[in-house]
Amino acid sequence: MKLAEGIRKVGFRKWYERELLAGHAHLALLLMCVLGLMTALEASSRYTSAADRLTDLVAVLVCAAAGVWTLRRYLFLLARAEAIAHQADCPHCGAYGRLTCQAEHEEAVDVRCRQCGHDWTIHL
Ligand SMILES: [Zn+2]
Repeated sequence: MKLAEGIRKVGFRKWYERELLAGHAHLALLLMCVLGLMTALEASSRYTSAADRLTDLVAVLVCAAAGVWTLRRYLFLLARAEAIAHQADCPHCGAYGRLTCQAEHEEAVDVRCRQCGHDWTIHL
């Protein structure tokens, strides 16, 4: 979910929590990919027919590709969530995450503190 949309719909703190949950769901998927990869590698030593070996090779490639994609997505989601969370402190009063979305730009979101009314920009 985009930051501006998230702030409008559920608020910053819930948006941040959901981004972390999505990131960690990707971590769980990464662990499943590693298990699938290890299982396919283990199975490759037991089968001798060409069809079985081809099936194992496909399983290894799928698990490896999905694992790499999942790892990249996990790291991206966490890095983005943390980078945005570090900008969620009001520079005027120090309130964390108590903000409303004022305007959305391509690489930034203008926000306003709900506690003191100070405006600032969060860069994505
Ligand atoms: Zn403030």
